[in-house]
Order: sequence, then C-alpha cells, then structure tokens
Amino acid sequence: MKVGELRIDPVIDGLGRFEPTKAFRGTTPEQWAPHRDLLDEDGRLGFAMGGFLIRGPGQTTLVDLGLGPKAFLGIEGGGFLEELAALGVGPSEVTDVIFTHLHFDHIGWATTVDGQPVFPSATYRCAPADWEHFMVEHPDQEADMLAPIRDRFALWDAPGPLLPGVDTLAAPGHTPGSTVVVLSSGSERAMLLGDVAHCPVELVDDEWASLFDVDPVLAARTRVALNRELEGSDIPVAAAHFPGLRFGRLLRGEGRRRWVV
Ligand SMILES: [Zn+2]
Repeated sequence: MKVGELRIDPVIDGLGRFEPTKAFRGTTPEQWAPHRDLLDEDGRLGFAMGGFLIRGPGQTTLVDLGLGPKAFLGIEGGGFLEELAALGVGPSEVTDVIFTHLHFDHIGWATTVDGQPVFPSATYRCAPADWEHFMVEHPDQEADMLAPIRDRFALWDAPGPLLPGVDTLAAPGHTPGSTVVVLSSGSERAMLLGDVAHCPVELVDDEWASLFDVDPVLAARTRVALNRELEGSDIPVAAAHFPGLRFGRLLRGEGRRRWVV
C-alpha cells in the first residue's frame, strides 16, 4: 500500500477465524445473512492481531504492536517480529511507535517478558487521555506492560500533525484517547482506524454495536460520524482487527453501504 511517499505494510501478529455469532455475542445468523460478503467461504469472520509499518523519508513508524507472545479469543500472537524482519526492518530501526489506544492487544510488543524495550530506539506516542485512563486512573495489565518504558513516551498535546505525513484524529469512546491515524502525502490519503470498528460490518451498518468499548454511546457516535465521512470518499482504510489487516473502501450502495477490499 502506497500513499505518495509513504509505504504502509500490515504486520500480522496472529490471525483468527470465528463463527460470527460467537465473535459478536448475542447476534443471530439472521442478522449476519445480509453481510455474507464480509465472511469467508466457510462463513467465518476473520479477526487479526497486529499493527502497521509506515516507511517514509526519515521515519520507520509502527502503528500498534499487536498482542505479543500470548493468546486472546483463541488467537495466538507471536508473529510480529518475524513479519517485521520479513519486511526488512530490525527492531532498532524503528523510530516511532504510535498507539491508537492502550488496550493490551495493541501494546503486546512494547516490552519483553523481562521488561526490556523491544524497540530500543523508538519514541512511543499516545493520546494523553489514554495515558491518564490506563496508567493513572485504572492501572491494570497495560500499566504493567508499559511501566518499563514510561520515560520513553511522548504524549501528543492535541490531535493533529504528529510526524511528516502522519496526523492523529481524536476518535473517543472505545477508549477515552482512542485515535484514528491519518496518513497523507501529496493529494493521497489513507486512514488507520484502530478499534473504532472491529469488523467491516460496523462501517457498513451504523446500528451494529462495537466490542469492548469503555463508553459505548460515545464510541457509536464517533463511528457513525466517521462512517458518514468515509462513505463514498474513496479513502482507503484499515482497522486493527480487520481480516488480514487489509485496506478497503466504504462505498455508497443501493440502500446500504458496501465494504470493498
Ligand atoms: Zn483491539
């Protein structure tokens, strides 16, 4: 994936395939019937863990760091560093790490199990509201994972330009500091949605509830506003758990939007 001078590659930590009614608990096969095109040939929903590598002049940036060497929802993490190596990037070459939010499945490769930084040269960046939530107000496993690198963090003051061609956009609700990363170069643009949506069904249909939101009402408002902006815009977008971490576009359809990869 190229956006002008920026090159974007998915870095997959682990991949899962689930019965959609189990991934989205409480949903029925009837609710999924109109969304058959989002499922694979066996009727399963793809769900990825990982992040994105952005390479451009003067920067080798990672957006989110996957699950790390453990399992979640039956998905085994662990592939991140090999995938990165296959893309020709060693850990010490990474200049910046941007977190869309600080949930444990996005910070897995921040530190080793011995508490060493995995990316020794990187500046780690997140929204102040997420730092406050996860590190100060509700410290849990995330705070333990990030404690060894807390002095390497640079919180951005406000959403907007962060690195050359990389802007942040506040997308609160999933977490207080949940962020969309906007990549731009020349006239081209792409967006990384983090967990604003976990599955393309949430982009296609405003009524679907998201997963694991800190503030579900605010998360829905954020997502619906984004859906309206993306619809028909031709901006390629990818999210942190979409199948294969592939980019797609949200098209205006007859009566309902369509997601096309
Ligand atoms: Zn997540």
